[in-house]
Amino acid sequence: LVHPSVELSNGIPDDRPAVKAKPRVETNRVLVTGGAGFVGSHLCDYLVARGDHVICVDNFFTGSKDNIAHLLDKPNFELLRHDVVERLLLEVDQIYHLACPASPVHYKYNPIKTLKTSFIGTLNMLGLAKRCRARFLITSTSEVYGDPLEHPQTEAYWGNVNPIGERSCYDEGKRAAETLTMDYHREHNLEVRIVRIFNTYGPRMALDDGRVVSNFVAQALKNEPLTLYGDGQQTRSFQYVEDLVRGMVTVMDNDEHKGPFNVGNPGEFTMVELAEMVKEVINPKAEIVFVENTADDPARRRPDISKITSLLGWSPKVPLREGLPRMVEDFKRIPRHVH
Ligand code: NAD
Ligand code: UDP
Ligand code: UDP
Repeated sequence: LVHPSVELSNGIPDDRPAVKAKPRVETNRVLVTGGAGFVGSHLCDYLVARGDHVICVDNFFTGSKDNIAHLLDKPNFELLRHDVVERLLLEVDQIYHLACPASPVHYKYNPIKTLKTSFIGTLNMLGLAKRCRARFLITSTSEVYGDPLEHPQTEAYWGNVNPIGERSCYDEGKRAAETLTMDYHREHNLEVRIVRIFNTYGPRMALDDGRVVSNFVAQALKNEPLTLYGDGQQTRSFQYVEDLVRGMVTVMDNDEHKGPFNVGNPGEFTMVELAEMVKEVINPKAEIVFVENTADDPARRRPDISKITSLLGWSPKVPLREGLPRMVEDFKRIPRHVH
């Protein structure tokens, strides 16, 4: 059967032979969904700088035009306001699919929309990839491991996720997005890549983002107490955004391995240790207050990155102590960050 919408869009019937991605060429046309967000805007910077033709698609739910304003006059950059829950017709060679709120504050704000974005949004972008025969990369998350019973987490671990909790819209949404990605690969022979991103920080995080690094940095700059949730003994591993972008491009451009690949920095810190480091690097006078933690908060998280390191030669370069000050400059410089 030929789907009428596919036939209408370009006249190509749906019974073509198995999809094969085209090799990367000089005029690589790259779609970055969620490209006006924190990570997406840094990815757009990288791809535009190396000469790809970049189409950034974003509905500006959590992203901002400020993040990509400096790219708007580049001949190889286009911006499209669009919600990936709706279908999209473009011609591209690679798709980096990032569109999805990532901060717990944002993804819990409208959980049904978060799930629709994860599932229907990913379905649409996979359908687009299939029609264009593009290579598709999904930005999944360490949250697929839930509150992990194995430590550190390898890609072989299946996770420990609450299916009915407040975080489930995001965790289960991303798990379903990974499943869909693999099913398009198995059923349509689509070329896919899966990255599981661990906590990432850097310039252009929104001040109201609610994630721990941006909260602490903003609080320290405003001389407000750093808010530690729970007892502060939970751990996370923080990766600088430049390392992540390099990791994503490395995974996308490799011709052999679809993943999943953990992309993160194995340096593990308790939230108390993070608060101490923010104090040391940004404002030694900042105080700390303990407040109630949120539900289902994972107790610890650290990536095992031996798979991506051994297969693709990627490893993170920027330790937390070096990355934090780079963020401060951005938070001070941008007027919307000044309260
Ligand atoms: P972000 O919130 O800054 O960026 C997400 C972008 O997607 C925003 O620009 C937002 O407006 C856009 N978006 C959301 N819903 C959309 C929709 N329906 N249609 C079109 N655009 C939509 O978050 P981020 O930190 O840049 O995260 C980017 C991706 O990386 C997300 O998929 C996230 O799940 C994943 N990720 C990030 C981290 C991290 O620590 N930053 C960790 C794990 C996974
Ligand atoms: N789609 C899209 N752009 C395209 C092709 C498909 O947005 O260029 C969407 C479309 O809405 C469809 C979904 O991707 O529902 C999945 O497409 P696919 O062809 O895999 O399956 P269909 O649902 O059309 O049978
Ligand atoms: N957290 C905190 N203070 C804050 C924000 C978050 O102590 O102001 C804690 C939170 O409870 C969690 C950790 O920091 O244990 C990381 O939270 P974040 O929202 O940054 O990311 P995620 O929970 O998705 O890893």
